[in-house]
Amino acid sequence: MEQIEKRNPLANIDTSFFHYVERRKNVAQAHMENGIPDYAFALDYELRAKILKIPHFYSISKKITETMVAQEMQKMNQEGLAVGPNQYPDIYQMGVECAKRLGIGIPNIYVLGNPNMNAYTIAADDTSPMVVILSGLIERMTPAELKCVIAHECGHIHNNHAVFKTVVNAILSSGSGILGFALTAANLALMQFWTRAGEITCDRAALICSDHLEDAYCVNGKLLSGGILGRNDELNYEALRSQLDLTLDNPSRIYEINSDHPSALRRIFAEMAFAECEVLYRWRPELKQPDMQVYSRKETDEKCQKLVNILDNK
Ligand SMILES: [Zn+2]
Repeated sequence: MEQIEKRNPLANIDTSFFHYVERRKNVAQAHMENGIPDYAFALDYELRAKILKIPHFYSISKKITETMVAQEMQKMNQEGLAVGPNQYPDIYQMGVECAKRLGIGIPNIYVLGNPNMNAYTIAADDTSPMVVILSGLIERMTPAELKCVIAHECGHIHNNHAVFKTVVNAILSSGSGILGFALTAANLALMQFWTRAGEITCDRAALICSDHLEDAYCVNGKLLSGGILGRNDELNYEALRSQLDLTLDNPSRIYEINSDHPSALRRIFAEMAFAECEVLYRWRPELKQPDMQVYSRKETDEKCQKLVNILDNK
């Protein structure tokens, strides 16, 4: 018996499922601060706390998710394609790797035929989240970029955005309709502001799970260019910075207040700020360059706060 163990290459490896789960739990807990993932953009959680204080928000939310998520699940199973170990296993594997890195469960991933470049996550309190990726986005991303997109969606799950975002998007899309009746214009603006802040958190999850940090920047670059087929997008960051400055100088930037995502330009520079944050290298120490100057999470959040502030872009 002793001899067999010596010859077995797995003999010294702990293959117990219990220990695997425990190790994953420990990794996840090591990156939590006061119950919040250490990479989260502080503004994301601050604004969400304010939204939760809106009267009737929770009761409205429950009603919306109960019907809407059931409809979406039905739609995906009828019209989309469920990704799994035997169906688009490469995409499934990306989901596995991102979930493992962040310490969350493997999400249900669906591919939906649609030429638009988009991906989103929907969830209710009592269902596991569904990540939906449109075929138009898959066609235009490299595999490494697609992994960043899936990581971004896993970031929504990891930060408990999925239920919250499903509700907020439904309220925002109904505008001043039946769901908007209970909300003031200020509260609707607060929700838009939160959704923009939440995207910054999830772009950080994409960097944490990326093979190369540039892949995450390229995803946002392709959201700008449409990822022209047959062309490799090469981003010139100086030119992009000049372009961003032009938008910040233009008073009509105020219209961005109606957007649920920050502009992809702002997102690239928020990602670059996180690429200099010490938190990223807690997750990915192997990516840290020697003598590299890194900044605290607080300093990084301050830079990002300026980047997402539409009213005052000084
Ligand atoms: Zn997102």
